[in-house]
Amino acid sequence: MYVDMGQLLARAVAGGYAVGAFNIVNDLTAAAAIRAAEELRSPIILQTSVSTVKEIGAEHLIVLLSDLAKRATVPVAVHLDHCTDPALVRRCMDLGWSSVMIDRSKASFEENIRTTREIVQEAQQKGVTVEGELGSIVGVEDDIVVSSGEEGLATPQGAEEFVRRTGVGAFAPAIGTAHGLYTGTPNVRFDLFDQIKRRVACPLVVHGGTGLSEGVFRRLVAAGAAKINISTAIKIAYCEGMAEYTAAHTGENNPLRMDRFVAERVKACVGEHIHIFGSDQKA
Ligand SMILES: [Zn+2]
Repeated sequence: MYVDMGQLLARAVAGGYAVGAFNIVNDLTAAAAIRAAEELRSPIILQTSVSTVKEIGAEHLIVLLSDLAKRATVPVAVHLDHCTDPALVRRCMDLGWSSVMIDRSKASFEENIRTTREIVQEAQQKGVTVEGELGSIVGVEDDIVVSSGEEGLATPQGAEEFVRRTGVGAFAPAIGTAHGLYTGTPNVRFDLFDQIKRRVACPLVVHGGTGLSEGVFRRLVAAGAAKINISTAIKIAYCEGMAEYTAAHTGENNPLRMDRFVAERVKACVGEHIHIFGSDQKA
């Protein structure tokens, strides 16, 4: 069933688990992610990056995803990930995304609050949940590039003020995780996460999930993370699955068989994360 992300996150907070938000890139990856969630009886968030929205086209993408979500036997939310453009955020809200992320974290604190609050006010009338970000998460996400050393972690005071003044329904503070693949051991600031959690009532989101160890994930969930984003791991499962299949079946040229193989890889990747996040058997 197609549900609002706010409702999924409220249940996650109450139940002490996190819902995985997986960046899907097409129908194959979306269907595989939903199958993993169904087998594990877990709620799931399908995320679309701005690149995916532009590549497939917003109108077609939402028809495809909402149809898969409606047919699913578990709750599925469809979320727009990291969008810096308020116009595209508005378009996706109008077309039927159940939640959106407006990312103005590279702007000044006041400008971030102003734009995020505007979107939240419009979203409330449409029944859409809005995620906002404070601080900048290092790495590359779509066309948003934050170099190492340029990252700014969120502060507890800033977080409290941001959430209070914007009214966001989900909040992503920069706590030391990174987009893409980690080059060294990630320095996740659990102390900062705890301090923010104590001051902010809104569900917290962790970005840059790929490459974090199972121990780090479990600690974040125990500390109260309600949504954990997984993007790069899906891309790797997809691309490596395809490479492996074509290498092992040279000359076969059977796209349906290849798709089935790749979908299994994506499904396994999603399933592993669902299990670690503790959302299995919670649908
Ligand atoms: Zn992110």
